[in-house]
Amino acid sequence: MSTSVVKTSSGIWLAQVAVYPLAILACLAFLDWAAKSDFPMEAAQFIAFLTAIFVVMLCEHWMPFSQDWKRRIGSDRKIDILTLFSTMGVVFPALKNVGNLLAVVLVVWLFESPEAILFPTDLFFVTQLFMAAVIAEFGGYCLHRISHHFQVLWRFHLVHHSASRIYWMNAYRSHPINISWHYLASIFVLLLIGVPQEVVLGYSGLAGVVSVFQHANVAFKFGPLNYIFSTNEVHRWHHSTKLSEADNNYGNVLMIWDHVFGTFYLRPNESPASVGLHDTKGVPVHSFLKLMLYPFKR
Ligand SMILES: [Zn+2]
Repeated sequence: MSTSVVKTSSGIWLAQVAVYPLAILACLAFLDWAAKSDFPMEAAQFIAFLTAIFVVMLCEHWMPFSQDWKRRIGSDRKIDILTLFSTMGVVFPALKNVGNLLAVVLVVWLFESPEAILFPTDLFFVTQLFMAAVIAEFGGYCLHRISHHFQVLWRFHLVHHSASRIYWMNAYRSHPINISWHYLASIFVLLLIGVPQEVVLGYSGLAGVVSVFQHANVAFKFGPLNYIFSTNEVHRWHHSTKLSEADNNYGNVLMIWDHVFGTFYLRPNESPASVGLHDTKGVPVHSFLKLMLYPFKR
């Protein structure tokens, strides 16, 4: 894969180093403010998400990691647009409504009370948010890793890996069933153990911002942040066509469980030779509808 030779003017170097930490800090500060005020958390989530997209699009134009990845391949952008809008407009709202209702029923059944008390709610909002993230990321990590090793799950998950370039928009290239099991293993668990709604929404808001940066075609310089967050430099290896590289870095927002289970992988100043599926035989990578139906085919 040919990577761009990014001009290393002091302005670009500063942006490569500073944009990501500033974006994460701004996101956390904004969500913290929204949680403490009457500002609706759903609106805060949406504003943070749109701002992240705007910033990443500017960075992709200004300091791309790969010039090749700026150009569409076949109908990949059409698939990414369709998955983005179906995920944000249909799948996430449906999961949220059904999940909240199901969680209330289960909590009443399990604890004989409308509220579970398995989560400390008297800590600072950002502390609660990171505690919730560690818990949610554990379920997400386990299911993500399993879905790479069991064929029946891989047929759904391969939709996310079917892009042969990485840029912000394919963050949401996922099958609805894949999104649903990830939701059950992460967000739904938070609802069951009594994590407050604003903290759950805060974690979702942070995850939305991190995932846009995670897939950005931008030559950021993360330094130690690579070991904490699932940055694009780390996540790129997970999209490698080489299985020994791709079977790593399963974290969605945080890399904590990759460190715990020994799947953290990073080669500084290197990148995978190519990204996408290690075997595309029979996979309809250029059709949204066929990709959605592919897991159900014999
Ligand atoms: Zn994966």
